[in-house]
Amino acid sequence: MYTPVAGDDAADVAAGLAAEINKPANAALHFKATADGSTLLILDTLAGSTTKITATLDIVGDALGDDRRVRYLMGVGSPPDFFTAVERGIDLFDCVLPTRVARNGQLWTWDGRLNLRNARFLDDDQPVDTRCRCETCQTFSRAYLAHLFRAEELLAYRLASLHNLTFTLDLLAELRTSLANGTFVDLGGRIMRAYAR
Ligand SMILES: [Zn+2]
Repeated sequence: MYTPVAGDDAADVAAGLAAEINKPANAALHFKATADGSTLLILDTLAGSTTKITATLDIVGDALGDDRRVRYLMGVGSPPDFFTAVERGIDLFDCVLPTRVARNGQLWTWDGRLNLRNARFLDDDQPVDTRCRCETCQTFSRAYLAHLFRAEELLAYRLASLHNLTFTLDLLAELRTSLANGTFVDLGGRIMRAYAR
């Protein structure tokens, strides 16, 4: 097992973990640190497979041990994956996924994903998510958004992105609250089930 030691620089950590995970050093893992060394930038380009993310974060977590620096994860940003990563010690996220999937018509809600390109939403007068405070949900229906996607109106991409970003911020606020009040496992289980459908 690779063990970071005092004085390791980013490249050393990356090389060590890349060897540990049996990958070429340029494939998926790279580490950086801020100038003052306070932030540990962990890994990138793992999106797509929760199994792969989980396995990699387990290896990274073991390798970093009790290193107390903030752990910053790039390229992972779906609702269930936030819980998988936080459970394994990640503190910060940086990912294009909420807006990328929004532009394809995939809207995130507290009850799971909606694909607004699906014809069944053309007659659905509900907001995307009844619990959401965003301007899209406060102003427009699923039917209107579904129409915009079908017409390839650029407004569809803006309204969908606005919703997914608001939802993501609210989800992470609830996640932080759940860590403080001991309901992280319950909240994570609810999101995992909603997004397994
Ligand atoms: Zn919304």
